[in-house]
Amino acid sequence: MSIQIQIGPTTIHRIVEQEGPLFAALHFFPTLTPELLEENRAWLQPRFLDPDDKLVLCIQSYLVQTRHHNILIDTCVGNHKPRPSRAFWHMMNSDRYEKNLAAAGFGVNDIDFVMCTHLHTDHVGWNTRLENGRWVPTFPNARYVFADRELAYWTARQRDEPAACPWVTDSVLPVVAANRVDIVKSTHAFDDEVTLIPTPGHTIDHYSVQVGQPGTDALITGDMIHSPLQARYPELGMMADYDAGQAGATRRKLFDRICDTSTLLCTAHFPSPSVGRVVRWRDAFDLTTG
Ligand SMILES: [Zn+2]
Repeated sequence: MSIQIQIGPTTIHRIVEQEGPLFAALHFFPTLTPELLEENRAWLQPRFLDPDDKLVLCIQSYLVQTRHHNILIDTCVGNHKPRPSRAFWHMMNSDRYEKNLAAAGFGVNDIDFVMCTHLHTDHVGWNTRLENGRWVPTFPNARYVFADRELAYWTARQRDEPAACPWVTDSVLPVVAANRVDIVKSTHAFDDEVTLIPTPGHTIDHYSVQVGQPGTDALITGDMIHSPLQARYPELGMMADYDAGQAGATRRKLFDRICDTSTLLCTAHFPSPSVGRVVRWRDAFDLTTG
């Protein structure tokens, strides 16, 4: 099924690769206590939390179709990629992603830009595909837009400890080697419809993507939020955060700015339909999700 969101002249498509219960909530959020989970169970279940207390997550891309460009934001997990520490992502071999891309009306040749909000395994996978034993860019006509300090950090990490980040080896460095990368600041104004917004903390130079103008806009969050629990409790860190304190401060600052406005939040990992608006809840926030 093709899912579309209209923001002024721009159409945003969701391209889903995977959806289901993936991680145990108490493991995923290391500072989440059983008591706090219990307190929130009634509204989390069944949609956001399965009966075994696993978080129900979606793995997806957002395809932003402006008047000028087709921009793919985040590229999921990908096929044939060794991910020994994540059984549900290890050596995937699925046609679901490409079928959903086709259902939205696009092929790999139609993508002009790929933006990775950050360089984690579930946001870079389809950057490359296997061709005759080599990793080549999946989108042959695309420029890949990476934040400068994000790329520098992961390039160094891969050099020092490649086994800790196999996705950098197979899904990031090959597009660099193919001269397909535009290295930008995480404040980069791409054009008059698309702007990068720095949302650091989950990773060192994470960015979100604003589409449209205030009043008629959407914010594609990447991983600055993983669950609506982090709206109610912005300081709740996630296990892979680079700096959980900074990630919490980023959520408070951004949500304060867009709270009770029409800005549509397009999250990477909330279960479908994954989008909603930020409203005030006690001294924090909540998300109205469809
Ligand atoms: Zn992610």
